[in-house]
Amino acid sequence: MAYSQLDRPVQFLKAVGPHRSDALKKLGIGTARDLLFHVPRRYDDASTIRPIASIEVGMDATAVGRVRSKGIIPTRSGLRIFQAVIEDASGYITSSWPGQPWLERRVREGDELLVTGPVKHFHGRQIHPREFTILSREGRDGEAVDEGRDGPGGRLQPGAIFVTYPAVDEVPQWVLRGIFQRNLDWLLDQIPDEEYLSDEARGELGLPGLREALRRLHRPDSVVDPEEGRRRLAFDELFFLQLVQALVRHQNAKVEPGIRFQRTNALIRPLHETLPFRLTDAQARVLREIYDDMTSGQRMNRFLQGDVGAGKTLVAFFAMLLAAESGHQSALMAPTELLAEQHFATLGGMIAAAGLDLEVVLLTGRMAAADRRDALARLAGGPPASIAVGTHALIQEGVRFARLGLVIVDEQHRFGVRQRMALVDGVAPGMKPDVLVMSATPIPRSLAMTLYGELELSVLDELPPGRTPVETLLRYPGRREQVYARVREELAKGHQGYIVYPQVQESEKTDLRAATEEYERLAKEVFTDRRVGLLHGQLAPEEKDRVMRGFRDGSIDLIVATSVVEVGIDVPNATFMVIEHAERFGLSQLHQLRGRVGRGSAPAVCVLIAEVGGDAGERLKVFRDTNDGFRIAEADLRIRGPGDLFGAQQHGRDPLLRFADLTRDEELVERARSLAREIVAADPELAAPAHARMRDLLATRHAERLKMWKVG
Ligand code: ADP
Ligand code: MG
Repeated sequence: MAYSQLDRPVQFLKAVGPHRSDALKKLGIGTARDLLFHVPRRYDDASTIRPIASIEVGMDATAVGRVRSKGIIPTRSGLRIFQAVIEDASGYITSSWPGQPWLERRVREGDELLVTGPVKHFHGRQIHPREFTILSREGRDGEAVDEGRDGPGGRLQPGAIFVTYPAVDEVPQWVLRGIFQRNLDWLLDQIPDEEYLSDEARGELGLPGLREALRRLHRPDSVVDPEEGRRRLAFDELFFLQLVQALVRHQNAKVEPGIRFQRTNALIRPLHETLPFRLTDAQARVLREIYDDMTSGQRMNRFLQGDVGAGKTLVAFFAMLLAAESGHQSALMAPTELLAEQHFATLGGMIAAAGLDLEVVLLTGRMAAADRRDALARLAGGPPASIAVGTHALIQEGVRFARLGLVIVDEQHRFGVRQRMALVDGVAPGMKPDVLVMSATPIPRSLAMTLYGELELSVLDELPPGRTPVETLLRYPGRREQVYARVREELAKGHQGYIVYPQVQESEKTDLRAATEEYERLAKEVFTDRRVGLLHGQLAPEEKDRVMRGFRDGSIDLIVATSVVEVGIDVPNATFMVIEHAERFGLSQLHQLRGRVGRGSAPAVCVLIAEVGGDAGERLKVFRDTNDGFRIAEADLRIRGPGDLFGAQQHGRDPLLRFADLTRDEELVERARSLAREIVAADPELAAPAHARMRDLLATRHAERLKMWKVG
């Protein structure tokens, strides 16, 4: 792409200079483009700014005035309060910041402040700003040096929208406003070169042009302008993400034809006939989608999500049988040893029950060397070793499959895109296996499409019949004894369960209860007549295994654990779970934990112990009141933002979307996805003149993404 003026260092702009350009780095602004995309964080309708005289106690008000006097007021309790009297043409009011004496150094007499907050009665009216901004500061000669004030006379225009930028001490609000005032027109004039959407496409999407969008964000004419502008920038972010994923998808389908599996039913039928239950409609539907993909000549790339307990393992197993029917091997990768072993045992059980002639190999990191050598030899030898179940060990050096046809990744959110690709490409060079990734952390459709845009989506949205929803209770720590009484009742019925803590060991930094110490206490003082086990991530694998096996076989009644029990463990006789410090866990994580109980026919209970009010309390109530993983995930996304959901494990995934908001922009995600897929279907090389700019932008501004996905 032609060199853009916007890529020049910000220092060359008017009113910037070397000193300010250094300071702007604190705001992440290095180039002119960075500045243009540094959009306001707050908009005030100037008509809602009240004359100070009209402000009354009880209001939540916004006012603009100059600081006439200021000082720190000590109180008897030792709290120091910074106060400033601000004045406009109508009168004055005290602004009060309890516990923020340092503001004394930031705010000067003569500064013009914008303050927003509740108005209280303390020796007269006082406003307690939730937020404030220094709009202008008087120079030495007493002249206002607000370089950013619009309009003649430098006053706020009635009806104008008043913008506030993210600022720092080194580059305060009034300086930023000044910089924008001097440069915005020029900056905006550079942007049309980067418009990649045709007028027609924009019309259909109902989005403003890029220049117009940025103008509306920086210099809105009305209160709806900024949102319109944001939508456009959000669309751009989502579109390029989807475009890369559409290209990947195209490449997967076209450049890499898949295996055309032949369905003989030789293995599938006996399993159907020996299953003690019928498939749910959702399982049957998803299996049809999978079989269709696998028996087509195209390589399958499918993302299966289903709520905890929806029966994904069985779906995976049927898919592996289809692969085996045409003589191909499958690999099933799980995030923990425990889960891999459980899958291995489950599959073994079903194979025995159905009398199938099929060999399953387990491969984990901590196997004895001889066992590992044996497993590797069998996989490299090809069928009858048809199914490999394992952990990361499946993608390590030395693993080779003779005839790998299908790769299944369980609990996908625990792996990054690189690991998935390594599993697919590394262990079976040249084999192009079909790929199915599964996740039990239900994620909203918008997020699924953003994270896994290159994959087709299948959803298991139905639980097997006969499950009673888990009863969920929220209890303060003071009621722990009653909770224990309830646990005793469950144990007396011969049931089992878990007590979960947020950490392994007590530490000096927090006063959280921890699994190890609580295990001692519970075993010795509380449930003395019961067999109690301890389970956490730092135990030796043999110890973990011993505890889990004991629990599964009924020789352990109660497991004291950390969140290691969240993934996949299936013990139908477990009917209770107590979660201590529940506020420490994310909602989706709580949902996974709760999914460990209520897997049998007896009613189950999940008790959250937490000492919380306010937002944290609300969050837990949302969780208490629904068992629907998708709704919980949506609430989680709304409350915590996508950051945590993308998660640290999502190595190499796109950094946070800045303008797009996945909780609100689902429709934009859909549109970005369908436009991207349409364009790639019609013009996979983006060779048409109409796509030239798009291609340039992709190659320059989105080069990193292309590299990550190995396309381009
Ligand atoms: P998840 O989707 O959380 O991985 P699992 O595959 O572990 O769920 O299945 C949970 C439990 O439900 C298992 O005990 C499994 O045997 C059982 N199950 C799976 N499908 C059905 C079905 N159609 N009817 C009844 N039980 C089922
Ligand atoms: Mg599972």
